[in-house]
Amino acid sequence: MAASDAQPSRLTALLRSWFAGGTDRPYGEDGAGDERIEWLRITPFLLLHAACLLVPWVGWSPVAVWTAVALYLVRMFGITAGYHRYFSHRAFRTSRAGQFALAVLANASAQRGPLWWAAHHRRHHRDSDSPADPHSPGRRGLFWSHVGWFGTRGNFRTATELVPDLARHRELVLLDRYDGLVPVLLGALLYASGALLAAYAPDLGTSGAQMLVWGCLSTVVLYHATFTINSLAHRWGTRRWATPDDSRNNALLALLTLGEGWHNNHHHHPHSVRQGFRWWELDVTWLVLRGLAAFGLVWDLRPVPRALLRGRREGDDA
Ligand SMILES: [Zn+2]
Ligand SMILES: [Zn+2]
Repeated sequence: MAASDAQPSRLTALLRSWFAGGTDRPYGEDGAGDERIEWLRITPFLLLHAACLLVPWVGWSPVAVWTAVALYLVRMFGITAGYHRYFSHRAFRTSRAGQFALAVLANASAQRGPLWWAAHHRRHHRDSDSPADPHSPGRRGLFWSHVGWFGTRGNFRTATELVPDLARHRELVLLDRYDGLVPVLLGALLYASGALLAAYAPDLGTSGAQMLVWGCLSTVVLYHATFTINSLAHRWGTRRWATPDDSRNNALLALLTLGEGWHNNHHHHPHSVRQGFRWWELDVTWLVLRGLAAFGLVWDLRPVPRALLRGRREGDDA
């Protein structure tokens, strides 16, 4: 193929890669194990960070700030209940519509698709803090485990072989392939609602640009709060259980992530829907899921084994 033919197709592939995720690997080769950062491909991720710098220009308003806070909480629930506890660990059950709703909610966080997320997380549990772990702070340092791994060529691929149970559902595969669509729609919705409020409720002091920028800020904070579980929760905190990895329990991270900070508990018993094993280990995601279960929206919440809840260590059971 002539160079002039190759150039536009590569550009098209790059543009597609921003909105279409890893299932069919549209940009570059498979790259499994390739730890080079794909700078062009993570441009949207970098631009989201840069957008936060626009806050002094667009200003703030109560409606923009509360929208950002609400988007953080709702999407964090999507990540912890959906991508993590449901798709990665099958810790409870729901309907096919319920599963799709969880996937869309989590996908709105711009943390790629449900298959991609669950496949990487299953690998993390299978190979925790070993050389094959995609994000171990012990192996490559804190920065790598926090965000470096997220932009590497090898980690863009969705390892469908690790999520055959999810790949059976066409709507999940589609969402995974076009993983940029929901975040872009959310951005458009934010801009449109800000512009409408500016026109019809000017006293609220907002605008399309302001709502969009605060939405970006919410997304960036959501990224880094989620990422702390891969980085800080394998470094800082206490270890109740002698798991073969470096996982820790950390109350502050649990607060930030609606319960994910009880990470040593979670590595000890990953299939339990509840990650705070003691009454004082606040696990908001579990509490919300219990509420949804009361309405019949989710069911079969997999419990923590009773011996663990009573505070006995595994060896004490004998
Ligand atoms: Zn972990
Ligand atoms: Zn997990």
